[in-house]
Amino acid sequence: MSDRTITYSPAYTIVPTYECFNRCTYCNFRVDPGQDVWMSLEKAAQILRSLQSQGVIEILILSGEVHPQHSNRSAWLQRIYDLGELALQLGFLPHTNAGPLSFAEMARLKQVNVSMGLMLEQMTPKLLETVHRHAPSKVPAHRLQQLEWAGELQIPFTTGLLLGIEETESDRLETLETIAQVHQRWGHIQEVILQPHSLGSDQIWQGENFAIESLAQLVAAARQILPPEITLQIPPNLIPNSQQLLNCLAMGASDLGGLGPTDEVNPNYPHPYPEQLATVLNQVGWQLQPRLPIYPRYDDWLMLPLKTAVQTWRDRLNTLSRPNLATADSLPA
Ligand code: SF4
Repeated sequence: MSDRTITYSPAYTIVPTYECFNRCTYCNFRVDPGQDVWMSLEKAAQILRSLQSQGVIEILILSGEVHPQHSNRSAWLQRIYDLGELALQLGFLPHTNAGPLSFAEMARLKQVNVSMGLMLEQMTPKLLETVHRHAPSKVPAHRLQQLEWAGELQIPFTTGLLLGIEETESDRLETLETIAQVHQRWGHIQEVILQPHSLGSDQIWQGENFAIESLAQLVAAARQILPPEITLQIPPNLIPNSQQLLNCLAMGASDLGGLGPTDEVNPNYPHPYPEQLATVLNQVGWQLQPRLPIYPRYDDWLMLPLKTAVQTWRDRLNTLSRPNLATADSLPA
C-alpha cells in the first residue's frame, strides 16, 4: 500500500445493550442497568442479513457494561459471543469492544473475533476525581491490564486516547508512551485512535470540545512516540473541517476507522460517506481504500475458521482494489 493511501473499515455497529453500570459524565450512549432490552439474536440476524449486499465487512460489537459481579454478567458475555458467532456465520468479520473483561472472558471472545479493542483513554488517575468519578471501569491500571492480556492472548488490538476530557498535554504524551511500551512487549497493537471529545446532546458534563485545530500537532507527536507499524486513526465525523482532516493525514494519521450509518458513541455526529471522503482525498492526490478489521501481520494469530474467513475477504479486496477501488460499496455479498 502506498503512502498516499488512506484506509477505512466498511463497518456496521451492533449494540448488544446500551445499559452500563459506569457513569462517565461525557457519555451519550448509556442507559441505566435494567432499562434496556438486549439485542436478540433474531433481531441481529435480520439486520445482518440486510447488510450482506451492502459492502459491509466489519461488524463492530459495541456494548455497555454489566458489572463483573452482577448475576447477568455471564448471560451478557454469552450474548456478545453469540453475536460474534452469528456475524461470522453470515460472512462478516467481528470486532468486539465491550469494556474491561476478565482474562477468561477475553480468551472466549477471541474465538469469535478477528480483533478486539478498548480505549485506554488517558492514563492519568486525576480523571477519577472528575469525569470518571462514577466509572469504576475507567481505572487506568485496570484498562492497561486489558492491553497486557490482549497481548498475552495474541489478540490483534485497537486502543486509543479520548482527548479533551480535562487531561493535560503531558498526560496525552504519557498515555501514548504507555501504549508504545505495552506494544513493545507483545507487538499486538494494530491501531491507535485519537478521538476528540465532541459535545453530544445527552451528556451530563458540559465541558468544551477538544480544540480540533491542535489535533494535527498531536498526530505528529504520536507518530514520533508510537512504532511505525501502529496505524494512527482519526474519526472524520469529529473533524468538521476538511483542511484539518488533511492536516492530520499529512502529519501521519492514515486511517479513518469504521465508517457506517451511525457513530453509536457520538450519535450527534454522523459519519461522512466514503465517497465524500474519497473526493476530498483525491483532490490532494490520496486514495481511500477499504481494509479489514485485522491487519495482515496478525492473520497467523487466528484460529483456523477465522483465518479462513479473513483470507476470503483479503482475496476479494485484492481482486477489487485492482486497478482502482475507492470505496467498498461495489463489493459483492
Ligand atoms: S462512556 Fe462507556 S463506560 Fe462510560 S458510561 Fe458510557 S458506555 Fe459506560
